[in-house]
Amino acid sequence: MSRISVRPEIQRLDAYAPGLSIAEIRRKYGLDQVIKMASNENPLGAPPLAQEVVRRYAAFAFRYPQGGNPRLVAALAALHSVEPARIVVGNGSDEIIDMLIRMLAEAGRHVIVCFEPCFSIYPIQGGIAGVQLRRCPLRKDFSFNFDALLNLVNADTRLVFVSTPDNPSGYCPPRAAVRDLARQLADHAPDCLLVIDEAYMDFADDENASSLLAAGDLPENTAFLRTFSKSYGLAGLRLGYGVLPPVLAKYYWRTRLPFSVNIPAEEAGLAALADTAFRQATLTTVHEGRALLRQKLTELGCTVWPSSANFLLFQLPEGTCSAQECFEALLKKGVIIRPLSSYGLQEHLRVSVGNPQENAAFLAALRDILASSAPDRDGKS
Ligand SMILES: *Cc1c(COP(=O)(O)O)cnc(C)c1O
Repeated sequence: MSRISVRPEIQRLDAYAPGLSIAEIRRKYGLDQVIKMASNENPLGAPPLAQEVVRRYAAFAFRYPQGGNPRLVAALAALHSVEPARIVVGNGSDEIIDMLIRMLAEAGRHVIVCFEPCFSIYPIQGGIAGVQLRRCPLRKDFSFNFDALLNLVNADTRLVFVSTPDNPSGYCPPRAAVRDLARQLADHAPDCLLVIDEAYMDFADDENASSLLAAGDLPENTAFLRTFSKSYGLAGLRLGYGVLPPVLAKYYWRTRLPFSVNIPAEEAGLAALADTAFRQATLTTVHEGRALLRQKLTELGCTVWPSSANFLLFQLPEGTCSAQECFEALLKKGVIIRPLSSYGLQEHLRVSVGNPQENAAFLAALRDILASSAPDRDGKS
């Protein structure tokens, strides 16, 4: 009899719950057309220049990539005007999150501090690493209480994770507040790294006013994460990057599996950086779509939270259906959005900003659902 057994941390694990896929829903409900507004992907698809290079580099699928992805590193260093020694790249920023935890925190000894709710990869990878998690509730309006967060930090804390703009709310604190957090953390816990996850920062109205990285202010204890999965339209190729304190970047390259960023991903990343027309169109589409969805959802009686990202957090009007019922009714109409029970938010929904057709289809479907579930005001039914 086999005695194979997994570590207790793994037995206890709740796996990451991804947004549903189009193929799944098409099959399940027998639909021809399904719209996915669940995973904050780019509403315009993949950049044309990146598609072209992925085709061109298909023939290189047999090759190992060059170690250290030097061309991509150079391009990213230039983009952010930082030394190349600070740049790391990974198989999505998820890989960098995982690596930072494994590099800095010892199982059974060290602590990670983050908000509750927050992007679920931080607690999941922390759990896998066997590291204790201390979580600070968000305020009722989903804004950050950095004082309360700092109160959870002790001498064993090795990482503090903050996403700005935040997922799933879209909340974005002012740059000065983040700067102050970095400063206080440096005083309070000099062994602790502050990880600022800026996956959605380029969708903010004023990136400079919100991002220390964009402003060129890089505190010594702070790592910044960005991704090609959202505004650059390459979620499926898996490419993310970090701007780290140089000594940490050096250890990252030693620790990472050598080839986690493959040749098509690296080339597509370079092409996506060059495809400025696509990126500009993405930002315009998201800004316009976000404003439209916010306005129309509000007109439908929903509560919508302010968002600096490419998605909106909302609640349905009182006395209509539950968030879960609405999510399922939308699925039947071929629209996938994101229920947030895995974030502990039973009555909230998150919708990614789509292209104009997708936004209109989502709004029409939601209008129907709300109309048929609203209490009948005339008393007839
Ligand atoms: C989408 C997202 C990421 C990016 O993940 P990738 O692994 O780069 O695809 C990182 N952080 C947050 C908060 C996200 O929502």
